[in-house]
Amino acid sequence: MSRYETVIGLEVHAELLTESKLFCGCSTEFGAEPNTHCCPVCLGLPGVLPVLNRKALDYAIKAALALNAEIASYSKFDRKNYFYPDLPKAYQISQYDLPLAKKGWLELKVDGQPRRIGITRIHLEEEAGKSVHSGESIIGSEFSLEDYNRVGIPLIEIVSEPDLRSPAEAHQYLERLKAVLQYAGVSDCKMEEGSLRCDANISLRPVGQAEFGVKVEIKNMNSFRAVLRALEYEVARQTELLDSGTAIVQETRAWDEGRGITVSMRGKEEAHDYRYFPEPDLPPVVIDREWVERLRSELPELPGPRADRFVSQYGLPAYDADLLTSSRRLADWFEAAVQEYHDAKAVSNWVMGDLLRLLKAEEKELDELPLTPGHLGEMLKLIDDGTISGKIAKTVFEEMFHTGKRAADVVKEKGLVQISDEAELARIVETVIAANPKSVADFRGGKEAALGYLVGQVMKETRGRANPGLVNQLLRDRLSRQ
Ligand SMILES: [Zn+2]
Repeated sequence: MSRYETVIGLEVHAELLTESKLFCGCSTEFGAEPNTHCCPVCLGLPGVLPVLNRKALDYAIKAALALNAEIASYSKFDRKNYFYPDLPKAYQISQYDLPLAKKGWLELKVDGQPRRIGITRIHLEEEAGKSVHSGESIIGSEFSLEDYNRVGIPLIEIVSEPDLRSPAEAHQYLERLKAVLQYAGVSDCKMEEGSLRCDANISLRPVGQAEFGVKVEIKNMNSFRAVLRALEYEVARQTELLDSGTAIVQETRAWDEGRGITVSMRGKEEAHDYRYFPEPDLPPVVIDREWVERLRSELPELPGPRADRFVSQYGLPAYDADLLTSSRRLADWFEAAVQEYHDAKAVSNWVMGDLLRLLKAEEKELDELPLTPGHLGEMLKLIDDGTISGKIAKTVFEEMFHTGKRAADVVKEKGLVQISDEAELARIVETVIAANPKSVADFRGGKEAALGYLVGQVMKETRGRANPGLVNQLLRDRLSRQ
């Protein structure tokens, strides 16, 4: 047991899925030629005025509702001033003292128990551009280039309370937050494309102490895995410092993925360094209850309630329900398959097992597959009526996954029909018994496991097509005779 308690808070930025930018009509499309989606407004040229994108506001409100937050009836935009080449206006339009939403929460499962993580605030702001350095990093580069396509894309910043107590909890928080935002249809949360980013604040304090320790901010984590590794590293680093009696310095540190360590970037800036002041070019945002309720009614069933329903309606274990509802697409696919086949647990096993395994191995998304929930339902019926064994079904499933052929056609084409002919199987059983005298003797001597080996040999002889139940029975009958 550590003598210290870990305290973590996360700041997540998620790009909203609008087609145009937050304050102008430029496209938000990812991957376009550099500096082709820019205009005088997002470049901050003199004499232009921003106009708020109503859709972005809708999405931000939906995200806040999905995170159980209170929507402010009155909020406003502010200028956050800093000089950096990726920010052509030299200020970012953000929200400071009157954010769009406050006091939300997200529920985690820790040791099987629900645990709520508080969300302090959710606000709307604009994205900065992207610097591309000529070398590996800014240090040592001869020059840098700026791509302003991203400037002005709408972002929501979601700030959690310092309620997370371990790197693993922080990781789970991100997974769940991503699922909620995807379900709500407001962000695609692709960390690899930069549409979801996360900074962390982490401190340690002696177990039992109420007061927080000195916190360190961690940046530059480019995947959920990087967040986990960076926080684990930081727990170890701060523990060592505290154990040796060294004070923790309040600072910002960058995660170095290659070296697997955090390195000091700069002292922590205070809010006044940004010289926030109200944005004079935008009116305040006034949101009435009717508007909020309309957006609330558009939200789908969210992952937490949906997982609870999967347990009560389909009798699934909580583990299955959590995994299946971790993405809306996967949960929809599962429910469509259950419409085709009565046994939800059997469907769940195939989805969590072979389907997810193949998706991962082939690096595919569910909606790219020719395989449909109907394919799985038909295949499961073929197992039930004895046409194929569960083992052969794996081969059939893989073929369906790749080609989109129906189960019955795969079985016919590949000659995979199960052998349930007693006479034919009895003949193979005789061959296997003759070839494995030792296992036969072991089984007769009381070693039950030897039977499994013999069944396996029959399956091998028939290339997996033998009806396993029948083989089992035939072997037992045969071996009980002398
Ligand atoms: Zn623009």
